[in-house]
Amino acid sequence: MRILIINAGSSSLKYQLMHAESGTIQAKGIAERIGISGSIIKYERPDLSPEKRVIELPNHTVAMEHVLELLTSEEFGVLDSMDEIDAVGHRVLQGGEAFAGSYIITDEVIEAIKENIPLGPLHNPANLAGIMACRKAMPDKPQIAVFDTAFHASMPEHAFMYALPYRFYTDFRVRRYGFHGTSHQYVSQEAAKILGRNPEDLKIVTCHLGNGSSITAVDGGKSVDTSMGMTPLAGVPMGTRTGDLDPAILKYLMELDLDEEDAFSIQDLDTIMNKQSGVLGISGVSSDFRDLAAAANEGNKRARLALKMFTYNVRKYIGAYAAAMGGLDCIVFTAGIGENTSDVRAECVEGLEFLGAELDPARNEEFNHIGGEISKEGSRVKILIIPTNEELAIARETARLVEGA
Ligand code: ADP
Repeated sequence: MRILIINAGSSSLKYQLMHAESGTIQAKGIAERIGISGSIIKYERPDLSPEKRVIELPNHTVAMEHVLELLTSEEFGVLDSMDEIDAVGHRVLQGGEAFAGSYIITDEVIEAIKENIPLGPLHNPANLAGIMACRKAMPDKPQIAVFDTAFHASMPEHAFMYALPYRFYTDFRVRRYGFHGTSHQYVSQEAAKILGRNPEDLKIVTCHLGNGSSITAVDGGKSVDTSMGMTPLAGVPMGTRTGDLDPAILKYLMELDLDEEDAFSIQDLDTIMNKQSGVLGISGVSSDFRDLAAAANEGNKRARLALKMFTYNVRKYIGAYAAAMGGLDCIVFTAGIGENTSDVRAECVEGLEFLGAELDPARNEEFNHIGGEISKEGSRVKILIIPTNEELAIARETARLVEGA
């Protein structure tokens, strides 16, 4: 089955045309700066040099039209016509409590995604724009929504509740939802395959460390706890997000006796916590771990501190989740940082020998960027690098639903 996978952001639209069975990518790319001046579409085919077009993209619908034009064009196309696309799989951030899986997109599903906008204000509107654009361009193709929250629907109540008055949950839907679900599910399943074990017999901590980072406890193949919360702001410090924070800090900052232009509104603090904090805020250097490592190596103390805060918090979550599950068989590292930075991985598991997790430094280097087992021979807890592939997971989910229908 040929699946078009769409991951729409507020001003971007990532796309990939993939064979669901083999995972072969036929073409992929990104439309950037949608609705902003200077928009571009990038297009890659495995057998051609990458193509980049500077083109006016006032909205997602126009971007989608150009993507389809590229996919079917004489010069760059991989399809004779759009009819060769069997279905479209969309990544959608927030499914709320109603969506504990993946769904064929109907008018009801669209309504529900809209209802969840208050819970995912930065992403759900963009995801919807991507869906509407595809519906318009390909009205007869099945469209599937794969929710970032779905894998975490198995969390028990005591893990997903916040200790606010109970009615905040029932009246306002305030609870932990968790994100990166497709990635945590994919790498935990891959880990079981690599270890030759039944997922039901395994206690795994999956560390998705990218621009956004989250840690998940996967017990018996199910998510039982995860570090992100009602929004993707919680958990470990990230590129530009704070991670966990004492909520009283907000009131304290808002009540400081400052000049009007220096005073913080709740909107200011929301922007600061999402976009100006994390390792960027601490280091003042960058949100990118490559820049941080370079600065730290040159003796920049705040860059070193930012890295240390990151790895310390990842380690705390690994320990907490081992305790929460009452055991640990495997730690998985994935995503941009998890797959590509041996120093960060080493620091994240430093001192965890008491849990039975022993890193092999040589393997940690050898399998950097590639993936593989990086624990010592005989380590009771296996430590793995597994490259995530959210697109493949979405393509498989999409094919499964379309076949089922
Ligand atoms: P996103 O959440 O946007 O999908 P990614 O999973 O691509 O993020 O991760 C981005 C992060 O991964 C950045 O901090 C980047 O520095 C880091 N990263 C990516 N590639 C490398 C690399 N080769 N070496 C070190 N860090 C890397």
